[in-house]
Amino acid sequence: MRSPKEMKIIQIDITNACPNSCSNCTRFCGHHKKPYFMDFSTFEKAVDSLDGFSGMLGIIGGEPTIHPEFEKFAVFLQSHKRVREKERKHKWREFHLRWPQSDFLKYILKRMQYIDEAVGLWSSLGISYYRHMEVINDTFRTQFLNDHQNLCEHQALLMSRKELGICDDEWSKKRDACWIQNTWSATITPKGAFFCEVAAHLDMLFQGSGGWPIEPGWWQREPKDFGYQLDWCERCSACLDVPKRLSTDGRDDVTPKLYEELLAIGSPKANKGLSVVHNPSDPSAIDKNSHHSYRSADEYMRNAGNKRINIKNRTCYPKTFTACMPDQINDVLVSGQADDWVLVCDDKQLVGEAQNYFHNKVINPGCLYIYRQKLLAFNVHAKSIREYIHNKKSLPTQIWGLYPIDKIISIVQGNDMEHEIIHTMDSIRMHMINKKIKCIQE
Ligand code: SF4
Ligand code: SF4
Repeated sequence: MRSPKEMKIIQIDITNACPNSCSNCTRFCGHHKKPYFMDFSTFEKAVDSLDGFSGMLGIIGGEPTIHPEFEKFAVFLQSHKRVREKERKHKWREFHLRWPQSDFLKYILKRMQYIDEAVGLWSSLGISYYRHMEVINDTFRTQFLNDHQNLCEHQALLMSRKELGICDDEWSKKRDACWIQNTWSATITPKGAFFCEVAAHLDMLFQGSGGWPIEPGWWQREPKDFGYQLDWCERCSACLDVPKRLSTDGRDDVTPKLYEELLAIGSPKANKGLSVVHNPSDPSAIDKNSHHSYRSADEYMRNAGNKRINIKNRTCYPKTFTACMPDQINDVLVSGQADDWVLVCDDKQLVGEAQNYFHNKVINPGCLYIYRQKLLAFNVHAKSIREYIHNKKSLPTQIWGLYPIDKIISIVQGNDMEHEIIHTMDSIRMHMINKKIKCIQE
């Protein structure tokens, strides 16, 4: 065991709602009759309580982007001194997901290297991630993304050591060496602060008495101060050599008494027959030779490896394109025809080419893309313009004037920029001359 102050990351679990129901989930998703959503004042308190903690603050769930106030939480983080101080030092924000990404997984694996930064996001990339993609990329340099639709294996958690016949001496050694507590995180839920993220969710699942008050410095406690919270380990098999299961299998491995407890609390998952109840006297229930426990977070991560996002997962790619002529933008928006990306150009052939180009790229809905100096691509949900659309107000002709400069990206081909500018839409030309927008060459 170690003190939370020695951890690289402390999490804030803002919800336990999740669209998935993976096997052996550390948040026991699928077992709760009703999910929780942390309120904003608890969130503020939780962030402030970590003042002085030098590691990363993680935002996690469940699926955190489902939280109805996710954007408000993210904007609060952006203005918090924890983020502002790091941002001043590294000046990273303006570089985050601006260029179109044709290999999103590679991009994400690179993002995961920055675990020394201020805040990080854990997400399974549901549709709510796509909806919040702009604010996510304005807030989180580090993102741990795993859609769990891959070969990731989750270790059984709900097998109690007493049922498995592990004696006190052996147990306390195993518990103190628990790989989750020693290489993962402490966490904060609406019920308080906990020395271990799994213990926090056992408390939530089995309606425990809650964690420590969320107050400055709670994370400086030493293992000798963990006290009653260690009782949750008695119901947890993270530190034992118990079976693992593909996350996509959807079933949980449990021992009989814990299964009875799940039924007693009305677990929807247990009631649906999604529990594999192991006979503790069967040698295969605990067996080092056939299924040793993970040893570290790194080993678990290697297990998911470079398959963290299923190749068929297109959650983050553009959903629809609506094409229009430059003088039709407002008609298209007012009529509600466009619900995702709008391509503005008077050259139909170029519209087709641009659509092909963007279709297989992950692009930031908050950015205005200028494709070959002739075509504008913008998303109706972009922060820069959404108030106009929401209030049915006409967008100004020079729409780019509404975007911050770091969110205007020009995609050019070759060195023909000057020549092309002179012969295309006047307004784009003026913008290109007046502002030094970012350019990439295909
Ligand atoms: S995606 Fe994560 S939080 Fe959701 S069910 Fe799977 S393991 Fe649990
Ligand atoms: S045994 Fe379970 S509850 Fe105890 S520290 Fe390990 S993961 Fe946390």
